[in-house]
Order: sequence, then C-alpha cells, then structure tokens
Amino acid sequence: MLRQDFNRVNPKRRNVDYRKRQFADPAYKEIEYPHRLNFYEIPPTADITLEQFEQWAIDRLRILAELEACSYRIKSAAEMATHMKPILEKYMPLDSNTSSSTTLSAQRQKDHYSHFILRLAFSSTEDLRRRFNRFETLLFRLRLNDDTARDRNAFIHSLNIDWELVSEEERNKYSSELTAMSGFRKGTEEESWYKVNWERVPDLIESRRVFLRAGTAYVPSKELPSMVVAEFTKRLDRALELTARALPRLDEDDRLTPILDHLSKNFATPDASYSNTNSMAIGAEISARNIDNLSSHFPLCMQHLHRSLRRDAHLKHYGRLQYTFFLKGIGLNLEECLIFWRSSFHKITDDTFNKEYRYNVRHAYGEVGGDSNRRGGGYSPFSCQKILTEHPPGPGEAHGCPYRHFNLENLTALLQGVGISDRSVLQGVREDKDQQKFHMACNRVFEFVHKNEIKKAKDENLLPSSQLETIVHPNEYFNRSYKLKHLDKQTGNEDVKMEGF
Ligand code: SF4
Repeated sequence: MLRQDFNRVNPKRRNVDYRKRQFADPAYKEIEYPHRLNFYEIPPTADITLEQFEQWAIDRLRILAELEACSYRIKSAAEMATHMKPILEKYMPLDSNTSSSTTLSAQRQKDHYSHFILRLAFSSTEDLRRRFNRFETLLFRLRLNDDTARDRNAFIHSLNIDWELVSEEERNKYSSELTAMSGFRKGTEEESWYKVNWERVPDLIESRRVFLRAGTAYVPSKELPSMVVAEFTKRLDRALELTARALPRLDEDDRLTPILDHLSKNFATPDASYSNTNSMAIGAEISARNIDNLSSHFPLCMQHLHRSLRRDAHLKHYGRLQYTFFLKGIGLNLEECLIFWRSSFHKITDDTFNKEYRYNVRHAYGEVGGDSNRRGGGYSPFSCQKILTEHPPGPGEAHGCPYRHFNLENLTALLQGVGISDRSVLQGVREDKDQQKFHMACNRVFEFVHKNEIKKAKDENLLPSSQLETIVHPNEYFNRSYKLKHLDKQTGNEDVKMEGF
C-alpha cells in the first residue's frame, strides 16, 4: 500500500523475506466506497506516499486522542457529538452520499487507510488494542448517529450480518411480549423485529431493551444501530488479534517500524509541534520585565520553573532549556530573553553569565551553532509529550511535568501554591495522576481556572472550536489562557498542529 520511496529504503533490504511478501499481499485490488461508513474488512492495497501514510495516521490519531480526552471530560453523548463535530470536519471530514462534495472518494480513502495504519500501530499490546477498539468504536458510533437515515439503512443492509427478520406469524405469537418490551403499537411501521443470538447484543440485554427467548434476542428495528456498533467492536477485536500475530513480520521494515512506534507512543499524549505564526497572544507585552505578570497564564510546568528560578536565582541545564524554548515560543525575542536570564541569575557576575550561559540562549534562538540550527531559527518549544517522556528531572532539577514527576503531596502543595485549592479539582487531579493521564490533569486545572471565560467564549461563540480542544502543548496553554482572559482583544487563530516525526 506504500508507494516505493527508494531513497528511504535500505538497499540491503530490497530482497524482501517471502513471509513479509505474503503478509504485505501486494495484489492490487480496486476499492470503491459506496458508503460513508466502513467496517474496515478489506485492507487497502493501492499506493500512497510515506508522507500520506504519516499524515493520515496523525490526523486520525488526533481524533482518537480527542475522543479519549472527551471520555474523561464530557459526560453526555450529545455533548460529545457537539464537541467532536468541528474536530472531525477539520481532520477527517466524511460527507454523505447526498452531499454535493466532489471529494467523497478521497475522504473515504483517507478514512480507510488511516484506520489500517493505526491498526498496525496499536495491535502490539493488549492495552493498546483495547483502547484502540474503544475509541474506534466511539468514532464509528458518532458517525453512524450522524449519518442520514438513507445512508445508514443502505450501509446496514450492505453488511450481511446474520440477523433474521421476525416473521409475521412469530410476531403475532409473541405480540404481547414484544409490545410489553418496546411499547410499540401494533400496526405501526416500527414493528419490525430481528432475531439474533443473544451474545451479539449484551448491552441491549443489560438495559432490557430486547425480548429474550431460548438464547435468541428479539431486537426492535430502532435498536439496529446498537447491534451494528456491537458487531463493529466484535469484528475489530478479532481483526486486531490477527494483526498482532502478523506484526513480527513487519519488524524489519525500517520505513514503517519507527513511524508505527512513534504513533503508538503518541496515543498516551498526542504530540504537537508549536508554530508561532499567527499565534501570539495579541496585545500582550512580551518582554523580560513582564514575565512575572505573564506567568499567571503559564501551565504548571512553567510556573514551577519560574518560581524555582525566582527562589534560587538559578536553574539547571534542562530547566533552562525547557524554559528558554517556552519563552521563545510565547514571543520573547532573543535580546529580551538574554535580559531575562541575566537579571534572573542575579547572584553571578556578568563575566560568568557571558561565559557559561549566554551562548546557550543564543543557540536556542538559532543565532549560533550549526548551519541547520541557524537556518531553522533554533529549536522548537517542547511539547507535553516530550516533557512527559524525556529526561525525567533528578534531585535539584525543576524541569519536567509536575503532574507526572512530582509525588502527590508535592503536586498538591504546588497546586495550592498557585491558588488551586478546590477539593473536587484536587481529587480529579489525583485520579488523573493515578491513571497516568497527566495531560488530562493539566486540562482539568486549565478548565477550572478559566471556567467563566470558557463558558462566555462558548456561549457567545467568541473563539473557534479548535481553541477548545484538549491542550497538548505548554505554549498552547499559555496562548489559550491569555486569549481567554482577554477575549475582547482576540481574533483566535490556530496555534498548534500535529507534529511529523
Ligand atoms: Fe506542562 Fe504539558 Fe505537564 Fe501541562 S501537561 S504541566 S503543559 S508538560
């Protein structure tokens, strides 16, 4: 399914092992997409580029990660559907057959391929398989509910699921039970019933929405979508098991393995690169002397670095790196950044500062160092994923993410130190931390601190919906915090995009 990109393939590996060839099954088969929805039964075989492979997977991952975030933050299905609608439209729109879209086939191809790419990435462990299935099912359910009635019926009938329409005779025989179960009036159109093995519809049985007799469940037609969703989950479960068994055959593919590894790690905390074009906190004075004021908009990791710096007049190497890149990302220019660090390290002489620290700050801005660093304008600010997973802090170091790297007692003290003492928020943070949902804890705190502004922004439609997505980057935290507190001055631009590799 990948278009050959010979420059990126190790020449020694052109002699592909026969088992791999068998797994890859290169036979091309034209695939048509008559329906908006897909059970993903047929693997894709057409060529795509490595870039499409990566980007499509990242776009789908963004959706699954947001669904996971929703499952922690948003309670009702209707709220989730409203929240997800613009995100789905942004990353993976799927128009209906009745729309006038000219890109139906391309949309469906991206949906199809990205599902299979992530299936490869998430089938290696039971935990990943379970999570992938859970959020793919949620996505499928959202789309099914959003389908037009005509598209949905056509799709359901294309599935050839072995459910049997209950005959007129049998319906009459059990009419009192069926009526009691559903409350349907005899003679209405909604009276069609289907017979399926009871194991197919455990959730309907649990909620007593079907009539059960001798191991057969009698399901009213209005419950067909639930049956379809249950079937989707069951088939995906089986398919993921099969993929897991085939995975070792992919091990030697040095184009795909690193991408798939990165994607699977990315499920815990979606990665994001930060682009500061169009993203400055409009109206903010980003200067050395104003950092103390602006720090009230910083996420906890950066607030902790700032407080440590103010307390000790010093930060160790990784703390300086993490904080310098962040400050650069909020728009502090090199000159102001040098002033900031020089005045913050007030216990040392100019000479020591110039010898030991000046170069590193200039390097971060791409003023010195190798050509590529200079051309690229220095390094990008660290994402949450990077801070959470790389270089955990040792004794005396202040970098990292407090939600991950602090023990509960110190984390609670830090939160209280920055004014978060609401018991339910602290309890929620504790639970997030226990479940290793560190960025969810951070989003929880953000939502608590900005609850009034978020409500106003939603009620008055003051910010684009992308500004209400889950935060996965410290600089996004800052920008969003600043914008929310200064709603009247903002136009709300896009700030963060999913990162390549
Ligand atoms: Fe910082 Fe991200 Fe941790 Fe929040 S989740 S404290 S932004 S690293």
